[in-house]
Amino acid sequence: MDPSEAPLGSLVCPEPGERPDLWPTAARRDRDGALMIGGARLGDLQRGFGSPSYILDRADLRGRARVWASAMAEEFWEGYGMAGGRAYYAAKALACADVVRVVTAEGMGVDAASLGELTIALCAGADPALVGLHGNNKLDGEIDLAIAAGIARVVVDSLPEVARLEAAAARRGVGVPVMVRLKTGIHAGGNEYIATSHEDQKFGVSVNDGGAMEVVRAIAASGHLRLVGLHNHIGSQIEGVGAFVAAARIVLDFRGRIAREHGIWVPEVDLGGGLGIAYSGADPVPTSPATLARALAEVVRERCVEQGSPIPRVSVEPGRSVIGPACVTVYEVGTLKDVSLEGGAVRRYVSVDGGMSDNIRPALYGAVCTATLANRASAGPWARCRVVGRHCESGDIVVRDVDLPADLRPGDLLAVPATGAYGWSMASNYNYLTKPGVLAVEDGAARWAVRPQTLEDLMDLDPGLAGRPLP
Ligand SMILES: *Cc1c(COP(=O)(O)O)cnc(C)c1O
Repeated sequence: MDPSEAPLGSLVCPEPGERPDLWPTAARRDRDGALMIGGARLGDLQRGFGSPSYILDRADLRGRARVWASAMAEEFWEGYGMAGGRAYYAAKALACADVVRVVTAEGMGVDAASLGELTIALCAGADPALVGLHGNNKLDGEIDLAIAAGIARVVVDSLPEVARLEAAAARRGVGVPVMVRLKTGIHAGGNEYIATSHEDQKFGVSVNDGGAMEVVRAIAASGHLRLVGLHNHIGSQIEGVGAFVAAARIVLDFRGRIAREHGIWVPEVDLGGGLGIAYSGADPVPTSPATLARALAEVVRERCVEQGSPIPRVSVEPGRSVIGPACVTVYEVGTLKDVSLEGGAVRRYVSVDGGMSDNIRPALYGAVCTATLANRASAGPWARCRVVGRHCESGDIVVRDVDLPADLRPGDLLAVPATGAYGWSMASNYNYLTKPGVLAVEDGAARWAVRPQTLEDLMDLDPGLAGRPLP
């Protein structure tokens, strides 16, 4: 690091949104106060590549993947009497070749939940022996590709799926390794829409009403399916380890029930993803992968001793905590508008060149984000701001409440941290906006991991417009 550069949170620019753990580890301010990601100034990146863009700090992503892979490998190391552990990257958080290659090079597997994600994982070179497939309504094409590619595990989500998988496997005359996705009744997650293991939601089969055991029996009776694991994903954006540990106990107890009924100890348990990250200064410091892996190892060891059972292999499927903090979104400031509030206060509406099409989380989940001035320093004073997008909805809010420099002006750049997960992957073309690209930056050099869409890309999808010259 250039000695004139300063880590975020130091005194160069003590902005409210600059808690260091929201940002890529090596985020810096240069001597003029400009924000740097991956060794490049955001202002230079925006001039060269445009905005909005998702700026991916590749080294930061690599570090997070390594932390997950090594935490699972170490805590579940055979040398400690365990049976091995692995982390699978949940591709839905952000799937592209570069991201798949970085995380698999660090030893992670990949979890897919659609034909597209599965195809991208395999085409990017992920080892099929380290790929899983999820889905509550798998298409025939997904099942066929999973079987043809020989992936490590198809996670069965319902009883009818057993017959479909068995038929597809029989047609090809091959065995298929399957896991059963359990509903443990644990209710966790940052929002109702991302809590995925309580009874009244669509995923998995319940350990409490006989549904899960029925699926196990159907698999045992099938000719081609091999039960390799039990699976549970309790939800997303979860704080602490308590809900994960409670769910692990229920999964291990169900494993004991299978052993009593069928005389086999299922060799692996997958305890899902869901570890939360910090999006704004209001969020707690996130639990580390090492802390979660250690807590899981403890409960697995303790439960297996109590049951007198062999220790299972253990896997997890983090998405958000791998890619989320490795990306920031850069926006250019446009229109500023002061709005009088009751009681005489003023709120400044800061419009940026993106919005709910590139970050749907605030509108979808009420997610709270923050933003900071990226192209220059400011010593304040601060103004009470709301950062909004360009879409035709008043709910098109990027950051509901943030203090930004009072001298903020059109052409300034704002950076929103922790947009790597469920940003690009949930982006839409609402208002015919083109989807921003993912710009991978490392050692000061930048290239597209995914290029931005162009208007021509979108027009090509419309037979009435394809090939027309732009006006
Ligand atoms: C979404 C999902 C994950 C990843 O969740 P994160 O909160 O991004 O870690 C893992 N497993 C399954 C089955 C999922 O649906």
